[in-house]
Amino acid sequence: MTKEFKPDPILESKSNPTFKNDEYVPLKKEVFVKAADMMSDKGYEEGYLADVIRTKMKRDQKRFWAGDNISDYVTEEMKHKLIDEATEAFELVLDRLLIDRETDPNSHGTARRLAKMYFNEIMSGRYDPAPDATAFPNDTEDRYEGMLVVRSELRSMCSHHHQPVSGVAYIGIIAAEKLIGLSKYTRIAQWCARRGTLQEELANDIAREIMKATGAKDVGVYVQAVHGCCENRGIMAHSSLTQTTVLKGAFKDDQGTKKEFFDNIKLQQDFAPR
Ligand SMILES: [Zn+2]
Repeated sequence: MTKEFKPDPILESKSNPTFKNDEYVPLKKEVFVKAADMMSDKGYEEGYLADVIRTKMKRDQKRFWAGDNISDYVTEEMKHKLIDEATEAFELVLDRLLIDRETDPNSHGTARRLAKMYFNEIMSGRYDPAPDATAFPNDTEDRYEGMLVVRSELRSMCSHHHQPVSGVAYIGIIAAEKLIGLSKYTRIAQWCARRGTLQEELANDIAREIMKATGAKDVGVYVQAVHGCCENRGIMAHSSLTQTTVLKGAFKDDQGTKKEFFDNIKLQQDFAPR
């Protein structure tokens, strides 16, 4: 199925009359690239790789919000070039903030540190494919049929201010036909968290990915987190805690299951607070 290409209003602007619009498209203000190259997988040498990837995602109508995974469009190899491009952009941000990158030794490599940190750490869940969670069959006679509650430490970042979010997710599941290794729950949760998120979305994302990896229909996710947004700026509230819950299947419909989940969370919290 071919998807209709929606032109980017910036890329398609007709501001430069020296180029025929259907032959060349402006990448930045003064960088132009052949329209044909723009649409292919190569040919970004004249412009920014990030712009080419962005154009491709728009063409495919692939959403690329801060909390979306775009690993289908970004290879390990591309990341190096993307980090170079982001370094250039962060240098400009520092310049605009009137921070001396030349003589301040602490600000000298900051642009590159920021670019690497975004791609490899705090937003790595956008660019990395889903963690490999090999599922084992749970179909023998003495199969595990009970509830499993895993406590996962999370580090995330709010989409609005790029401030840190730190907390814990409690992932509850009634074992289905497949089981995944215990550490995989946390790996999946952290992969969902290492993006720009909203806590409400994060709990949903974790529930969806756990359901995908395990095939389970009965899943509960409870996230409890403190937000740099509230602690470091704005209301400067140091003890504010946000809780979100997403319940699916029996966790939502069966009062007994729901109660067992929250009793388990309380037990875990007594053992390891927050
Ligand atoms: Zn925020």
